[in-house]
This record gives sequence, C-alpha cells and structure tokens, in this order.
Amino acid sequence: MTPNKEDYLKCIHELRETEEKISNKRIAEKMQFSAPAVSEMMKKLLAEKLIEKNSKTGYLLSEKGQTMVAGLYRKHRLIEVFLINHLNYSPKEVHEEAEVLEHTVSDLFINRLESFLDYPRVCPHGGTIPKEGELLIEKYTQTLSSTQELGAYRLVRVHDYFQLLHYLENHQLAIQETIELLDVDPFAQTFTISFLEKELTIPHSIAQHLYVEKING
Ligand SMILES: [Zn+2]
Repeated sequence: MTPNKEDYLKCIHELRETEEKISNKRIAEKMQFSAPAVSEMMKKLLAEKLIEKNSKTGYLLSEKGQTMVAGLYRKHRLIEVFLINHLNYSPKEVHEEAEVLEHTVSDLFINRLESFLDYPRVCPHGGTIPKEGELLIEKYTQTLSSTQELGAYRLVRVHDYFQLLHYLENHQLAIQETIELLDVDPFAQTFTISFLEKELTIPHSIAQHLYVEKING
C-alpha cells in the first residue's frame, strides 16, 4: 500500500516525539519507503505549507499540519476505543483496523462516535484523544528511556507499533501495570524493571516508546 500524505504527517509527528532531527533518510526508514519517493512527498508537503524545514531540527509540522495530525489521531484513537470496548478487539489487533478506518470515516461519524463512547480522553494505548479542533497535546510524555530515578512507576502509555505491542504481550507487560525500575545502565543503555514477580531488561530503543508515571509514596 502506498503511504499517503496523512501517513507522512503522522510519521513526522511520531519521530518528533523521540528525535532531535528529522531527515528524509529517517522518514524513509520509518515508512519503509524509498528515499526519492520521500523527498518528492516532502516537496509537496512544503508547498502545501503542512510542514516546515529548518537546518537544525529538519522537518517539523506547521500549525496547519499539526491541526491535520490532531484530527487523524482523534479519529484513530476514538475508533480504537470503540473496537476494543465494543467489538472485543485485542490491543494488538486494533491498530491495523483503525489505520484503515481513520482515512475513510467522516467528521460527523467521529463526533457521533465520540458522544456514543461518552467522550473518552485516552486511547487503549494511553495516547491522548484531542477534542474537535484542538491540537494534540499528549498527557503522558515521560519516557522510560529518559527516567533516571529508580522506584515504582505505572506504565501509562505505549506507542502503538505492531512489533512493540507484540514484545509487550510476549512479556505480559500490559498498560497500567505497576513496574519497579531497578537499574539504569548508562553504558549498556538498558533499563531493568520488575513486575508480576519477574525481571525484564529493556534496551533504550524500546524504552523510548514506553511512557511512565511515578507512583508517589
Ligand atoms: Zn492507540
């Protein structure tokens, strides 16, 4: 399936959460698409003023681009809540379906769905659902990879990448789970946690997609 304009905007938004500089190369890697096709699309998005480019940070979303992305996440995440709560989809199954539907349903449908679901504000992966016309400001922004202080945390949000969800399911690490951060190894760039009476050492590349909230006390 050829990725469309909206997929590229979401890709830039997602890279922005974890990376300092966004280049054609990084976008091509993440989208698993050829570099020439990516640079062609970037030209288009720049011309439509959906993105901007700056020598220090690379590509970033313009206000217009951010508004469009917020609308896409709003659709995606409301659909996810519906599929999980009402059609018994698993967190792993839900992503692909939502990915297709978000491009096809109307705003009317989404607004009615939001009301039917009683205005949820987070998706099953802990992502924030923006209200109509609002920009997306994630409620949870502290990644495990940026956490230094050992102690008790709750896993409050994960990026909904298929392989990541698969990894979490394999280790029975579920969202809302209480975890204990036991060790941070700056040389190996690993994070050792315990939960459900077992230990797991997580590499930085995965820890940057997991969001935690400190449990006080
Ligand atoms: Zn989600």
